[in-house]
Amino acid sequence: MTIRIEVDPTACKAHGLCAELLPELIELDDWGYPVIADADVPRRLRPLARQAVSACPTLALRRRAAASAAVSQPRAQGSRAFRD
Ligand code: SF4
Repeated sequence: MTIRIEVDPTACKAHGLCAELLPELIELDDWGYPVIADADVPRRLRPLARQAVSACPTLALRRRAAASAAVSQPRAQGSRAFRD
């Protein structure tokens, strides 16, 4: 089981506290809204992730349990990559 961090963009008010508490996984965009890394929370950062979720003043941040990383599947025969 892995853990991911997600933000509810409608609830987030761009306080930026989450990025201060968990800079390894959360950056702020030019307007102060969090950009969450597309990655599982490493075990060593889980306590900080919990703290960031608890500290969010608008309850916009949450942890989500996710299944382990999916194994990439081989392409079906005859499929082609999308091109412009
Ligand atoms: S602490 Fe909460 S409200 Fe503030 S930027 Fe992070 S998710 Fe948004």
